[in-house]
Formats: sequence, structure tokens, C-alpha cells
Amino acid sequence: MKILIIGCGGVAQVAIKKCCQADDVFTEILIASRTKSKCDAVAEEMKNRTKAKITTAKVNADDIGELVALISSFKPSAVLNVALPYQDLTIMEACLKTGVDYIDTANYECEDTDDPKWRKIYEKRVKEKGFTAYFDYSWQWAYREKFEKAGICALLGSGFDPGVTQVFSAYAQKHYFDTIETIDILDCNGGDHGYAFATNFNPEINLREVSANGSYWENGKWIETKPLEIKREYDFDGVGKKDMYLLHHEEIESLAENIKGVKRIRFFMTFGQSYIQHMQCLKDVGMLSTVPVKFEGGEIVPIQFLKALLPDPSTLGPRTKGKTNIGCIFTGYKDGKKKSLYIYNVCDHQECYREVGSQAISYTTGVPAMIGAMLVVKGIWKKAGVFTAEEFDPDPYMEALNKYGLPWRISEDPVLVD
Ligand code: NDP
Repeated sequence: MKILIIGCGGVAQVAIKKCCQADDVFTEILIASRTKSKCDAVAEEMKNRTKAKITTAKVNADDIGELVALISSFKPSAVLNVALPYQDLTIMEACLKTGVDYIDTANYECEDTDDPKWRKIYEKRVKEKGFTAYFDYSWQWAYREKFEKAGICALLGSGFDPGVTQVFSAYAQKHYFDTIETIDILDCNGGDHGYAFATNFNPEINLREVSANGSYWENGKWIETKPLEIKREYDFDGVGKKDMYLLHHEEIESLAENIKGVKRIRFFMTFGQSYIQHMQCLKDVGMLSTVPVKFEGGEIVPIQFLKALLPDPSTLGPRTKGKTNIGCIFTGYKDGKKKSLYIYNVCDHQECYREVGSQAISYTTGVPAMIGAMLVVKGIWKKAGVFTAEEFDPDPYMEALNKYGLPWRISEDPVLVD
């Protein structure tokens, strides 16, 4: 089967290499991105390591016309969007026009948050829903009916979180609980890259997410916190004790809809003191702003300039040592008895590097991106409409995680987060 992969950054490079491993499914791969030389370099690297036929193209994924032309000429079974969340809607629109299935790893986010048209809709949503994050599912859920009518499938957010965390939730619901009452998603990165400050995936997306207000879902509504206001310590298997902070995260929104009866959903991510101090300082001086400023007769967007100064996340692989531990702690009831469960994966940065030349953050996202695409093109996870991962049968995805490098573990009596 043919797959079109859009983007060729840190996550995409892992997804491409994993599709090359699954060359019994993906027999032809077209890598298309803004910078074609990056696509050519990966194609060259994989040339003698896969039976899949790899071709490359340049595409501006903000341009629906260019995307439609590319999809129409290549005729893939699905498009895997591993560019940026800014391109989600244009790529979905192109899939709709060409009748091709769509998979991505992060929900839509607007690049220019000062755009008055976008801001009007955003402010209405903030009032109605009660969280101020710049990203939410409403933009992509608006395509549900159109995708249904076209008979094509959109699988949203098939990374680790979102993605695997929702598959873990569906799996816990299917096999372990009658009712899930609480879900705590814990994302721990115990890796050290040796730089004073660097982000493990796209700096712009990462810093916008972490420096924003936090929020969690409780008793049917959103509760918003100041940035990094809620801090806990947790002792992670394979990593040890780490400070973690409550963030807003997109899968909370879909899990609140799809896990019936859930009372509270929270998301925590670990950060070291150095990361937080650098981020706070950059925020205080305005370097995280997305609003263009005049500089020496031209215009620059501060966060994009910062991105140019920071290490490229796709180059962190050789330097990053340590492990990640990402998973979900569930509490609820089975056969009238209260119970708790922790499903998680531990991933080693250096092992990822040895296998695909990338650090574990790109790996833990790129592998699920490939798995989501594989289940869709094989027709195992295929329904007409727009869906998140917990809306499908989790079992084949859980099997594929074990097979393709992200084996999971279950703890039946985990320490809970207060
Ligand atoms: P990178 O910045 O490393 O890569 C993005 C790629 O998209 C680059 O190759 C870039 O091109 C390309 N691109 C950007 N804009 C365009 C455009 N207009 N047209 C064509 N190509 C474009 O990002 P990451 O690999 O770190 O992240 C990729 C995605 O994965 C993001 O959406 C991110 O939010 C998501 N993610 C999801 C996670 C999860 O667990 N669900 C975790 C981590 C990330 P160029 O090379 O020219 O810059």
C-alpha cells in the first residue's frame, strides 16, 4: 500500500523509518515536506534497508491546491501528517477533496493567534468550555460530517500523548474496569541531553504548550490553573523520582467525552529546574511571543527566532541518555470493587538512537504515528468520520506497540498521585 508522509522533522523521521520496517504493509512511501533535501537524506539512508519504494517531493502543506495535486498524482491509501499542528486543517481539506484517509499526531493549533477571525471563535470557545489553550478539537471535529459523507477516516492524535494514552484508556475500560473514575496521565522524560536548555520536539509547539495555563477536567467541567501552578513528585519505574507539573493536554478533552462516567482527568509532565528557569526567563523577556516585532527594518517572530537559536530536536539523539516513562493511572470499579491500575511504557533514549538514530521523544511519537497509519490502511481501524484513538478497539494497537518497539507494562497496585 502507498502512504504519503508529510513533514520530515524529528517525529517524521522515526515514522518514516518505522514504515520502512513494516514494508510488508507500506510498499511505497512518498516523503513530502517544505525542505526537500531533508526528505532526500532520509530516503538515501533507507535505500538499502527496506523493500519499500521511497520517493520524495517538496510541498507547502499550507497550500491546499499543492496538496491536492500531490495526493492526486501519488494516489496513496492514506496521508500521515507529521508536519506541524498548523497544517492539520489544510491537509484534512486536501484529503477530503481527494477521498483519502488522514492520520495526525497533534490537534489543530493556529499559528497566528492575533488573526481576528480565529480569535473571535477562540474567545467564544474559551467562554463556553472554560480553558484558554490555543489548541482544541473543535476545529477538526467540525469535519466529522464531511468525512462521514465522503466515506473516509480521520484518526486524530496518533502519537504517544495524545495517542497511546487514549489507547491505554480504551484498553483499561475494555479489560479491567466497569467504570473508570479518574485518569492521571503521567509523561516523564528522565533523559539528559547535556544542553542547559533544549526542547525534545518542535520548540515553538513545546514552549507554547508548557508556558500556557494548566487545566484539568473534574465533575463535568474544566478547572484552569496558572502555568505550572500544580506540582507533584512521583517515583517513576526506570527513571526514579521526578517533579511533574499539571498541564492542559488535548486528550483530556476527548477522553472526557468518550470514557463514560469519568470524574476527573489530569495530565502531568516532568521538567527539571533548569528547563523551567530558562523558559520563565524567555517568557519574561518576550521571546515566546508569536507576534511579529520590527527589527532592523524587517520583522521577526520572537519564538521563531528562538527556534533558530535552539538545538534542532532531531539532532539530540546521540547526546540524550536516560529513559522516558509515559502512561496512565486509572482508578474505578470492577464487579463492585474499587481498583487502580497503571499502564505505561519505559523507553530508553540510547536504544532508540541505536535503532533509528533519534531520541525517545521522537521515537515514542513516530512509532504510534506509523501504527495508527498501519491500522487505518489495513482497514482494521477504519470508520467513516473523524475519530480519536480511544474510539477504536485498543487490542490490535496494543499488540502493535509490543511488536514495533514500545512494549507496555501493567502495575495492578500503583502509587496514586494526590
Ligand atoms: P519538527 O519541527 O521537527 O518537524 C516538522 C516538519 O514539518 C519539518 O520537517 C518541517 O519542515 C515540516 N513543515 C513545517 N511546516 C510545513 C509546511 N507548511 N509545509 C510542509 N512541511 C512543513 O517537529 P516534530 O517532528 O518535533 O513534531 C511533528 C509533530 O508531532 C508536531 O505536530 C508535534 O506537535 C507532534 N508531536 C506529537 C506528540 C505526541 O505524543 N502526540 C509528541 C511530540 C510531537 P522544515 O524541515 O522545512 O522545517
